[in-house]
Amino acid sequence: MKTLSALASYRRASVDRIRQALDADSSSYLIKGPRGCGADELLGAMALALVGACGGCGVCSSCVAVADGEHPDVLFAQGERGKLVPVEELRRLVRFASLAPTQAAHRVVIIPDIDTLRLSFPVILKALEEPPTATRWLLSAALIGAELAPVASRCFVIEIEAPSMAEIEGRFDEVQLEPTEQLVRWTRRRLDRVALFARLTDAERYLSGFANLPDLVREDARWSLELVYRLTPRDLATTAEAEEVLQCGLEILIAAHPENADWLRRASRASLSLARHLPIQLVLAELILREG
Ligand SMILES: [Zn+2]
Repeated sequence: MKTLSALASYRRASVDRIRQALDADSSSYLIKGPRGCGADELLGAMALALVGACGGCGVCSSCVAVADGEHPDVLFAQGERGKLVPVEELRRLVRFASLAPTQAAHRVVIIPDIDTLRLSFPVILKALEEPPTATRWLLSAALIGAELAPVASRCFVIEIEAPSMAEIEGRFDEVQLEPTEQLVRWTRRRLDRVALFARLTDAERYLSGFANLPDLVREDARWSLELVYRLTPRDLATTAEAEEVLQCGLEILIAAHPENADWLRRASRASLSLARHLPIQLVLAELILREG
């Protein structure tokens, strides 16, 4: 888990904004920035700063406990994109937030990417409206829609921009992945994509496969899309990760075949919900592609 000081070496402006926000001492904060802007890391650094008497040094026992997810006054929400957050999990968050801290000066509840979760926003709103003095809610979102707007209006909103190219390339070094021109471009300046690419076996070759579907696209766009879904790597941990790889693959496919862009976009929206329910597996198609 990175500290605010460590993050400031890349993102001075964002970290300055966060420090000013923390000085304002709000009971709830919302980091608003594009998907993959590193909001989860920034929220973690905020938690370190709020919880440790050290101000978030990153190395003391309190900071280590936060990083290990073992600090009794810090709770990271468990949620996966697009999946319903169970009522019990929501109750657990609200109950946790309602109690006084046991060790630290603050009790901190962290919900990254809240806009991607399916949960009862009125329940969160109610909790935000009646905050115990020592509780701090740390949220992040890329989009603030109608459902989230009332929650956002209760928060100190911190605007964060997309990471710089220097930060993207630095992240490739951290995960020991060669920052080739194509891979860097395919991240679309999203830090989460660098981590995702690092989990793929031979990411560049795999992702290039999407661009190299020209004949199939020309002959039958529907079949090529079906192929894309069947190409999902087996070794990804969650369906959200698999969907992200597919999304990235579709972007590459569309960039390689702009003449089919409209059709592919429409078809991908329609198919993504279906793909969510398919078992993630590699089929013969992948072998054909790799041999070809
Ligand atoms: Zn510390």
